[in-house]
Amino acid sequence: MADTPTGAILQRDKQTYAIVPRTPVGLVTPENLERIAEVARKYAVPVIKITSGQRFALVGMKAEDVDPIWTDLGLDIGKATELCVHYVQACPGTAVCKFGLQDSLGLGMELEEYFATQDLPAKAKIGVSGCPMCCGESFVRDVGLFGKKKGWTLVVGGSSARRPRIGDILAENLDKDAVLALTRKFLEYYNTNANKRERTARFVDRLGIDNLKEMLL
Ligand code: SF4
Repeated sequence: MADTPTGAILQRDKQTYAIVPRTPVGLVTPENLERIAEVARKYAVPVIKITSGQRFALVGMKAEDVDPIWTDLGLDIGKATELCVHYVQACPGTAVCKFGLQDSLGLGMELEEYFATQDLPAKAKIGVSGCPMCCGESFVRDVGLFGKKKGWTLVVGGSSARRPRIGDILAENLDKDAVLALTRKFLEYYNTNANKRERTARFVDRLGIDNLKEMLL
């Protein structure tokens, strides 16, 4: 819609909007939280919802409040409707969790920096977990990573949407640089060869993981 305010999503009442500030891997600071709280009070935001993507959705604003809210927040716009990587979620991993085998927050931040907002044929989500318990939902994300003692396992083509799909393992025992390189290669191949709005789940189904491995490894 031409007059949709910046970074805003029209709600079901067709009158109010939601926004989702960018909070990579769900890490926030006291300053972020204070600004969100101040904005919510100042503009009487009726709903603040933590999303499955580890972000804060501010819901129910008037159109004219959206731009001033972004200015007051001082946070980047999180993607929510565009055809691109919307977010990277990550579990606590070795930073905090006693089961952690790899640094999921650290890798998640790097993946977010490299790939968030990257244009693609459809929306995509990335999930990173510090061990095979996969609290970062790695098997049901377009790109998923989970840590083992010897390195990272890279999973592609997962989805938790209407037609859920468990992702396929593309490669194992990767170090961080190999994860970044192979993720880039996969997303570039997907970008070039997928149909418009074809999610990675359907793309990997259509091509088959063995063919993908032949192309990418
Ligand atoms: S996936 Fe493993 S490291 Fe991450 S929170 Fe779950 S148990 Fe901890």
